[in-house]
Amino acid sequence: MDIKANLEAIKKTFINPNCLLVAVSKTKPLSDLKEAYKCGIRDFGENKVQEIQVKQPEMPDDTKWHMIGHLQSNKVKYIAPFVHLIHGVDSFKLLKEINKQGKKIDRVIPVLLQIHIAEEESKFGFDAQELKEMIQDSSFTYLSHVTIKGLMGMATFTEDEDQIRKEFRSLKGLFEELKNESLPPFVQLEELSMGMSGDYLIAQEEGSTMVRIGSAIFGTRG
Ligand SMILES: *Cc1c(COP(=O)(O)O)cnc(C)c1O
Repeated sequence: MDIKANLEAIKKTFINPNCLLVAVSKTKPLSDLKEAYKCGIRDFGENKVQEIQVKQPEMPDDTKWHMIGHLQSNKVKYIAPFVHLIHGVDSFKLLKEINKQGKKIDRVIPVLLQIHIAEEESKFGFDAQELKEMIQDSSFTYLSHVTIKGLMGMATFTEDEDQIRKEFRSLKGLFEELKNESLPPFVQLEELSMGMSGDYLIAQEEGSTMVRIGSAIFGTRG
């Protein structure tokens, strides 16, 4: 895999040059991450706590670690000290745990709320109703050690571009709707994490501010 050539080719296609490229390096060896780092990449996406724990000490200090996968509450403590952004916060329980771990180490942890937009049945992600309920919960106001930086979503795995576009558009719609609500100061809706190797251009057209790209950079995963 020519990581450098792949990165250059991808960057060239960006519709929004300000959209952040998160290089999804899950399952890939450190040598691949170091190669991407040499090409200027600082943001890396991983989906397993154990894997981040192994890679993090081996990479330069200014590497930004994005936890993009499903995160179990009991593992938050392992990444709390250094994680740059947790994309997949999909329950109030998890949000409260992140807040608790942040409090312990006196760090405000940036997160995104994962919204379920795909047609596929998935256990992960809030639906609009759950989101509303959480925001109205009295204990929501008291989160002192998390910042909700925005929303994240994954489109249905399909060739149907209209379907994908529709789903991204619905996420953007929810994002804009939420911005108009009166929300506590720790909710700062700035980021919309949507788009992967197969659909990042559609995502950018629909307003993505960060794309999570793995296989198009590092090759398919085994
Ligand atoms: C693996 C993964 C990606 C990257 O997928 P590619 O198709 O390889 O670009 C993006 N987001 C999440 C949440 C992932 O788990």
